[in-house]
Amino acid sequence: MPTHDVTNQVPPLVGADITTHPALLEGLHREGAGWAEGEVRELGELGNSSHWQQAGRLANEHPPVLRTHDRYGNRVDEVEYLPQYHDLMRTAVARGLHGAPWADGRVGSHVARAAKVIAWGVADAGHMCPISMTYAVVPALRTTPDLAAAYEPLLSNAEYDPELAPPLTKRGLIAGMSMTEKQGGSDVRANTTRAVPDGDGGYRLTGHKWFTSAPMSDLFLTLAQAPGGLSCFLVPRVLPDGRRNAFYLQRLKDKLGNKSNASGEVEYDGALGWLVGDEGRGVATIIEMVNMTRLDCSLMAAGGMRVGLAHAIHHATHRQAFGKALLEQPAMVNVLADLAVDSEAATTVVMRIAGAVDRGVRGDAGEKAFQRVALAVTKYYLCKRLSAHTVEALECLGGNGYVEDSGMPRLYREAPLVSIWEGSGNVAALDTLRAMAKQPDTVEAFFAELELAAGTDPRFDDALALVRKELSDLDDLQFRARRTVEQLAMLLQGSLLLRHGDPAVAEAFVASRLARDWGVAYGTLPAGLDTAAILDRARVQ
Ligand SMILES: Cc1cc2nc3c(=O)[nH]c(=O)nc-3n(C[C@H](O)[C@H](O)[C@H](O)COP(=O)(O)OP(=O)(O)OC[C@H]3O[C@@H](n4cnc5c(N)ncnc54)[C@H](O)[C@@H]3O)c2cc1C
Repeated sequence: MPTHDVTNQVPPLVGADITTHPALLEGLHREGAGWAEGEVRELGELGNSSHWQQAGRLANEHPPVLRTHDRYGNRVDEVEYLPQYHDLMRTAVARGLHGAPWADGRVGSHVARAAKVIAWGVADAGHMCPISMTYAVVPALRTTPDLAAAYEPLLSNAEYDPELAPPLTKRGLIAGMSMTEKQGGSDVRANTTRAVPDGDGGYRLTGHKWFTSAPMSDLFLTLAQAPGGLSCFLVPRVLPDGRRNAFYLQRLKDKLGNKSNASGEVEYDGALGWLVGDEGRGVATIIEMVNMTRLDCSLMAAGGMRVGLAHAIHHATHRQAFGKALLEQPAMVNVLADLAVDSEAATTVVMRIAGAVDRGVRGDAGEKAFQRVALAVTKYYLCKRLSAHTVEALECLGGNGYVEDSGMPRLYREAPLVSIWEGSGNVAALDTLRAMAKQPDTVEAFFAELELAAGTDPRFDDALALVRKELSDLDDLQFRARRTVEQLAMLLQGSLLLRHGDPAVAEAFVASRLARDWGVAYGTLPAGLDTAAILDRARVQ
């Protein structure tokens, strides 16, 4: 005799393609990669399939383990991952989410990859860290053609090869980045790791890095103080003769989230490294990598919003309260529509920036200049929004959202990370203002893009005039950094939505985000908007 019936619980969302939202596909076509739609859709379905959802869950419930020594006391410095982690990596590499676009001459290859990152990210965020770094390392390596010629083909090859072996003997390579030290991560110029020329074309690096993620990677871009100043080095984990480099893992961080990804502390004890770029130009060199990882932070933020929103809408569709589905309750409609507006704006802007990256790589200087400011403001704003967005999406599931089975706690723990690494909030905001001050062409390119929407809506024009005024006043600009950058980010999103977006979404965005008819929490949109159209578009198709 059953003691209770289960009623009013929502069916699982697993199996549905929840990431390839219309805004993603429209952006894909608009930015020149319509040819990839089939692959993007396929990856979206795959990522949310029960097989890959389980792989992602297991990889997070059983985080990697550090083995510093073997049974005889020899140092081995190995990190053991669950097979599911390697499977996730293998799939991401096989689908070209790592360095593949750099070897793909097709127009739109970086746009296609961006959409695939969003689509596949639903399986697990942790392994996207090394995937992203492997993508991002290429532009930095290209500053040194010999190194790029040797390693780029393996960083873009679609084979995942986790074996411990000299890099040039492998079928494919994974790259990491080692900048942060105990005394400072944002202020990398304070690095104390030293690099001494070894007289044989290399350098010997000695120092301690406080954060180095994916420490089982094959190659690391590492910052160290050379005789000519802070410089960037390529450090292999295994030396060309097969011996291990003097790269010792001290411990793995016990992190809030991002559990499937290992983040280690590393002791460099005379480790071999090869100079990338010029001596003394370490920051300028590694920033080429950081810019690309910032793109991925923004993609992951847009993807995270989409996943949270999809779960929230799904729950509200099937859950009844007070005699009606939650989706029919006006207060819930406001919350969901407000979340949907940010999610759609985020997807639209990251696809536009991916298009700029693609065209910039192919020599379009105007797009490169636009990307400099557009990416900086977007990285700041989307990564900051993601945490609030995820909390609200979680709350839409009520108590069920607070329970691990729902998957929402994993999203929640992941959310703050994209805002911390690759330039924490303030640093990202200040960096935007610095770029604008140092490179006036980037400001022109950015405002030229905003101007494309001028005249379409007086509320947009007013917000644009206001931000111009803010920027013309240099007093206390650092104090106002977040506020100004936030306005720039919202103007960019608004201009794109007005030009290309769904009219109902654009109207809600302009009314709330630009004309400021809005509250503090989500769910404070003004009355009179076409929320049915907004939610219809946001529903899992
Ligand atoms: C899970 C994880 C993985 C990581 N993986 C890597 C990795 O693989 N490689 C790597 O090199 N690093 C990695 N990091 C480190 C990360 O990049 C740094 O934590 C980050 O850059 C911030 O540096 P910090 O922790 O030293 O903080 P700090 O630089 O001390 O900053 C602390 C706070 O002060 C703010 N701040 C700093 N300067 C200013 C200023 N001038 N004005 C106003 N506010 C300011 C920052 O925004 C931040 O909020 C990782 C971090 C985490 C959490």
